Amino acid sequence: MKNIVIFGAPGAGKGTQSDYIVDRYNLNHISTGDLLRKEIADQTPLGIRIKSLMDDGQLVSDDIVIEMMDKAIAADTRGILFDGFPRTVAQAQALDKLLAKHSREVTCMVDLEVPSDELMRRLLERAKIQGRSDDNETTIAHRLEEYRTKTLPVAEYYAAQGKKIVIDGLGSVEDIAHRIRQAIG
Ligand code: AMP
Repeated sequence: MKNIVIFGAPGAGKGTQSDYIVDRYNLNHISTGDLLRKEIADQTPLGIRIKSLMDDGQLVSDDIVIEMMDKAIAADTRGILFDGFPRTVAQAQALDKLLAKHSREVTCMVDLEVPSDELMRRLLERAKIQGRSDDNETTIAHRLEEYRTKTLPVAEYYAAQGKKIVIDGLGSVEDIAHRIRQAIG
């Protein structure tokens, strides 16, 4: 059973490539961003608490997302593609423990690499098309800063375990999907 982490800066194309990966390997696609946005849309107590944080481009606390993942992993029987998680080293360590409870482990981490000027271009473009409330220039700058300071160390965490696969995230969606398929096998 594969458990794959898709990793990359905001705008690297994680969501798009996730669709290809889950189709190919028949995985459950679990996106913490989507789960959190649903809490906000449903105006749950959690959603109300995290809305301003998310709109500002900051990460929500580790405890909240780890608890969400605990439930998602317990409910899964197919294998999971983790999209947007883990975003801190504490989350990565928690993920190893959560999977170990079910005698599972992270198979590999796919790191989509895209230069920062291209990231900004894509994020501003997406803001125009999708109207996501956290896609504006100030918030994008915050999200990229959170990525650099808190999330980038996660790449080292998986590299140290020999699980990091670097993929060039520039080019057509199909080309990138093809590179990922070849790398995962
Ligand atoms: P995404 O859709 O993955 O770009 O996530 C959108 C926003 O959701 C992020 O900017 C964070 O505010 C929040 N978020 C998503 N995943 C996580 C996570 N693993 N840890 C903390 N915050 C998260």
